[in-house]
Amino acid sequence: MTLLNGLGIPELTAPELTGEWEWKLARMERGEMSRSEFMKEIAAMTQHIVDRAKTYDSDSIPGDFGELSAPCPKCGGLIKETYKKFQCQGCDFALWKIVAGRQFEAREIDELLTQRKIGPLSGFRNKMGRPFNAIIQLNDENAPQFDFGQGSAGSDGTAEEVDFSQDKALGVCPKCAANVFAHGMAYVCEKSVGPAKACDFRSGTVILQQTVEPEQMQKLLANGRTDLLKDFVSARTRRKFSAYLVRGTDGKVGFEFEKRAPKPAAKTASSTEVKVKPGEAAAPTTTTRRRKVTG
Ligand SMILES: [Zn+2]
Ligand SMILES: [Zn+2]
Repeated sequence: MTLLNGLGIPELTAPELTGEWEWKLARMERGEMSRSEFMKEIAAMTQHIVDRAKTYDSDSIPGDFGELSAPCPKCGGLIKETYKKFQCQGCDFALWKIVAGRQFEAREIDELLTQRKIGPLSGFRNKMGRPFNAIIQLNDENAPQFDFGQGSAGSDGTAEEVDFSQDKALGVCPKCAANVFAHGMAYVCEKSVGPAKACDFRSGTVILQQTVEPEQMQKLLANGRTDLLKDFVSARTRRKFSAYLVRGTDGKVGFEFEKRAPKPAAKTASSTEVKVKPGEAAAPTTTTRRRKVTG
């Protein structure tokens, strides 16, 4: 809204706007206004908005942008928000507001500057349009960097030692029976990080936009599966889906999809269906599908 106000396009910000177009739409439906007349009005308004937006150089768009409470990490100066950046008023330090398709809030940048780290944050998209999550860190040159929790390698190429002594183990690694801890963007086997890497068990804290809470990872490690998690979003179809995360026989984490209730019509056909072995799930029309977690 700040940008729209700044651009001087009251049509887009006035509260009456929606009501007015709804009224026109209703008139058209009642036949009091022709469809072409309605479309003409929409086209005129769109043209007006485009013209108005074009006349502004993006760096000089006026707006009531605020300032950060955290000082500049380079010079201690005041950082102000502009249309595109968070810009220090005392030096050349600046951070882009939109990174990998995600816009930073001022409070997030405040946290990044004071903690030198923020996240995991979701809502980023790569060049292929696939969503991803990341921790953002300020490096030694005060430049923001994505940290995917892989453990940073030192200058000699060896991974840093990770100290889990203050952390609570979530369970037993399905691959090597060492302890599993939350680490950055993932739940990892304690043997999978550090210089003496001996295991590769790793499962994201966010998988296909579904946050996997520590208690769900505990359930997976203890019982072999999580509760039904309902907020996965398919990277391919962008649709939400529900699934259990399960511990595979190979120690990898996989999906197990919700069993669909048999359709009422399926009742008549039930006699022809494959018998389910005793002890297996009751719904005969569904097979349990599993696939590898790639998120
Ligand atoms: Zn500065
Ligand atoms: Zn392990």
